[in-house]
Amino acid sequence: MHALNHLLYGNIDFLKNEEYRAFQFRFLCILLLAGAGVTVLLLAGVASGVNHIDAIHVVSMTCFTLISLVIWLVLRGQPQRFVAMAWIYECLCLLEFVSALYFVSEDEMRVIWFFTNIPGIYILLGQRAGMLITIGTIVGLAVGNAFLPQPYSTNAIATLLSALMYLGAFFHVYGARSVSYFIRMRESNRQLRHIASHDPLTDLLNAGAYYATCDQLIHLASRHQQPFAVLFVDLDHFKKINDTFGHEAGDIVLKTVAKQLQESVRQSDAVGRIGGEEFSVFLPDTDLSGAAKLAENMRSGIEALMPQIGQQRIKVTASIGVASGERSETNIAAIQRRADQAMYDAKQQGRNRVSCFTQAA
Ligand code: GH3
Ligand code: MG
Ligand code: MG
Repeated sequence: MHALNHLLYGNIDFLKNEEYRAFQFRFLCILLLAGAGVTVLLLAGVASGVNHIDAIHVVSMTCFTLISLVIWLVLRGQPQRFVAMAWIYECLCLLEFVSALYFVSEDEMRVIWFFTNIPGIYILLGQRAGMLITIGTIVGLAVGNAFLPQPYSTNAIATLLSALMYLGAFFHVYGARSVSYFIRMRESNRQLRHIASHDPLTDLLNAGAYYATCDQLIHLASRHQQPFAVLFVDLDHFKKINDTFGHEAGDIVLKTVAKQLQESVRQSDAVGRIGGEEFSVFLPDTDLSGAAKLAENMRSGIEALMPQIGQQRIKVTASIGVASGERSETNIAAIQRRADQAMYDAKQQGRNRVSCFTQAA
């Protein structure tokens, strides 16, 4: 499946918020190949004598097939060329349909190609282009009919033009609805992903998402042979804060500490709430002494917070365990256990302090 995708679309890389453009890009690639394929079938029909087509139009069909394939090759792996290639393909299609209209008089149904073109243009280039091409087709057929070697009857033209108007109006409404649905779906997916991966109280990563992020970061670190470290932050006597000031006050403290943690790390670090009053921080490209310095800054930062609870400010402290990564490590489990053990040591030594895990500990 991956090999087929690569063959059809090339090496493409769309951003998360570009799903609709990714769909349009793939749609155009398929359209180019399908159009070329159908034309080759018609050419095979001509070669085997099944259908009789004027030589000029055979040349036009051959050019259409070849140019479609060239456009596909130019587009493959180059999403930034999408709009230009879509317009070029649309012009190519219109030329091909006009050629059929003029040179294949004995085929009364050839005008259908103009109809198949309308949905594609709405999908590829949106409503304004769709409306422009629909109106252009209507005007072109109304005016051009008289110049055809065998013009359509007035009745046939009236039916064709009203059907085109109907199709244009239909896709105009449908296009607007589907794009707005796509945008809303993308936004609700983003919200769902956020809810599934974040803690609602502090908006930090929840335990599952945090550990998954850490595993990825450890994978990267081992690939680039970089050090990494983990801090385990546990608030001191937090139960007492809840018991003295109430659960809501405890929540305010948790939010304040979470904000402080998030603000004291780099963009590339990960911070998660892994338990009630327990946080963990993953530090890529950081050795034990760097992590210990950051942990000390965090500790003093938390101590200085003094969150406002009602009329008074209360002192909150944390014990922080620090552990550094080992080369053989492939996931977060062992280093997290070492950081937990170091944090436990900090508690044992009197709390409100940083303790680093060492083999002797
Ligand atoms: P230590 O210094 O040994 O860590 O003591 P501690 O009181 O912080 O530790 P303990 O594990 O006994 O208590 C943790 C408390 O955190 C107990 C629980 O009620 C509280 N807690 C857990 N989740 C939440 C929460 O979401 N909001 C609030 N307000 N409290 C919470
Ligand atoms: Mg705890
Ligand atoms: Mg605690």
